[in-house]
Amino acid sequence: MNAIKDKTNLKTKNMIPDYDWLFDEASSQGKKGKSKSKFMGKLVRLNLKSILLSLFIYLFQSSPIYMTPLLTANIINIATNNAGQAFTPEVWGQIGLNAGIMLFCIILNVPTTVLRWKVASKMLRRTSAGIRSALVRKLQSLSITYHKDMQTGKVQAKFLKDMETIDAFFSATINNVLLTLISAVISTIIAIVKEPIVATFFIVVVPINVLLSATFRKKIRGVYRKYRIDTETMSARMTRMLEMFQVTKSHGLEKTEIGMVNSTIEKVEGSGINVDNTLARFGAWSFVVNNSLSAVCLIFCAILAIVGRIGIGDIVLYQTMFVQISGFVTSLVNSMPTISSGREAVESISELMKVTDVEYNMDKGVAMQVSGNVRFEKVYYKYPNTSQQVVKNFSLDVKAGECIAIVGPSGSGKSTLINMIIGFLLPSEGKLYIDDKSIEEINLSAYRHNISVVPQNSILFVGTIKENITYGLDRYTQEQLDQVVEMANLNEFLKDLPNGIDTDIGEHGDKLSGGQRQRITIARALIRNPKILILDEATSALDNISELHVQKAISASISGRTTFIVAHRLSTIRDADRLVVMDGGECVEVGTYEELMALKGKFYQLKQLSEIKEKEAEKALS
Ligand code: ADP
Ligand code: MG
Repeated sequence: MNAIKDKTNLKTKNMIPDYDWLFDEASSQGKKGKSKSKFMGKLVRLNLKSILLSLFIYLFQSSPIYMTPLLTANIINIATNNAGQAFTPEVWGQIGLNAGIMLFCIILNVPTTVLRWKVASKMLRRTSAGIRSALVRKLQSLSITYHKDMQTGKVQAKFLKDMETIDAFFSATINNVLLTLISAVISTIIAIVKEPIVATFFIVVVPINVLLSATFRKKIRGVYRKYRIDTETMSARMTRMLEMFQVTKSHGLEKTEIGMVNSTIEKVEGSGINVDNTLARFGAWSFVVNNSLSAVCLIFCAILAIVGRIGIGDIVLYQTMFVQISGFVTSLVNSMPTISSGREAVESISELMKVTDVEYNMDKGVAMQVSGNVRFEKVYYKYPNTSQQVVKNFSLDVKAGECIAIVGPSGSGKSTLINMIIGFLLPSEGKLYIDDKSIEEINLSAYRHNISVVPQNSILFVGTIKENITYGLDRYTQEQLDQVVEMANLNEFLKDLPNGIDTDIGEHGDKLSGGQRQRITIARALIRNPKILILDEATSALDNISELHVQKAISASISGRTTFIVAHRLSTIRDADRLVVMDGGECVEVGTYEELMALKGKFYQLKQLSEIKEKEAEKALS
């Protein structure tokens, strides 16, 4: 066996931590504000060691910040005290000592900065990788019904933009907030030790700035929230535009579409301007407040020097320290927007992480071999938030290997039945057994390794035909590939392509005809050698010739497995073992083609109707 390894299936090296739990309680319990701080609290606890280490290194890294003013003041005091006098070795010694310490602190900055970033960077990158991966796992665990309602653009905005914001938020917290706090505390302590009266100035800076940021906080958070929501909406609208591209073009609706996207762009522009203006006003006020305080402090120190309480060098010391401290506080206050938007982004990602519409597969056993018996027992189905049962009292016992065709007018519940077999929908009432296990008790993910689905619209991705056929397979043999290509009736078509099976198919297979796409999808379904094969209107969107090709492929595929075929054109299901006729959610007739034709009931009517329609269609074409 020459097994071919699929390149698309590279496993991650298991380096990404599992951070799903960060969101667990954060989402389900408590009030809104609380959930966010819980999230932060957990994150801090998770990284406590790294944070403490990084702070410890910072004590050394930042030594020039608090040592420079002290040493500068010393040197100025030495200079003023000895002004106009002769140099003594003692003076040289004092100056030399101060200069030496200063140089040492400055040079120390190189190794400490490198080391601290190493610690911080690892912690930050790892955290964001963990959250991203938790998001991906969450998305994959969601039920198909939720997926259908989800707006791709919005989710992408969360994955890219919100994560960037969260990165900035963590980075600001670790590299800015905590460090600034430490520096401010150290400087204040030095001031208190040297001159308590001056220290009061330093301490007054803090409450004033806190007051200032409290005044602006609500406003800033509000404008950020609006900005985030507007951006998400724009992104969703943009995705829709791309999806609708063909329809838009073919109806000449370009202008309408541009207009609609533009209105979302304008909203983002408006809320962006709001954010900028709010920040500008806030920044201006904090500048004014801090610089005024700094001026007052300078004058106060000058008075202290005049009355002889402190030296000239000390004026420089306090002034520099004051500027530094108010700089710290300003920088803290300035990181407030980053923190606001970061919390907003955490909230946005929690929105997705707390969706409860998930399939629970974890505790239900992993491996599962299915032989292909499917049994409905008095099954009812009602979609959530609707009042009507769309499947009523449905019972059917299908033995492994049988081919069942489900027919009926549109809206009669055929796809709903199929989706129950796949496990996308669970019966509202009654039981559905796969072999002898109720579908509610099995691990759906493991079960689905045994089934293959060919939907009406084939879903292909950018890549070669081979990659599309072997999607998700770890290994397969050339024989298997050749066999399914043959069964799916693809040989002739592949022969005409420049690179055969390795031909690139373009985005979503746009370069192919519907019939060709559908046959690739059938090959994909078959290469897994499924025990249960499901075809839901697999040929409905095709013209007669393509349908003939696909029909051949289907006929070749059904032997040896349980098959469910939903077909619109009734001529195509003559060979099914049994036909199930649906009407208004109920099963009205079951039997072979001949039996049902002889019965002259619902199926007979449908058949007449579809023949008339097909003839009309042919006439219209000719
Ligand atoms: P068929 O495949 O036979 O055309 P479906 O099983 O798709 O019929 O639909 C059966 C009925 O259920 C229809 O009336 C349809 O409108 C309704 N239905 C289908 N999907 C949903 C849904 N997600 N939510 C609510 N009603 C739905
Ligand atoms: Mg349908």
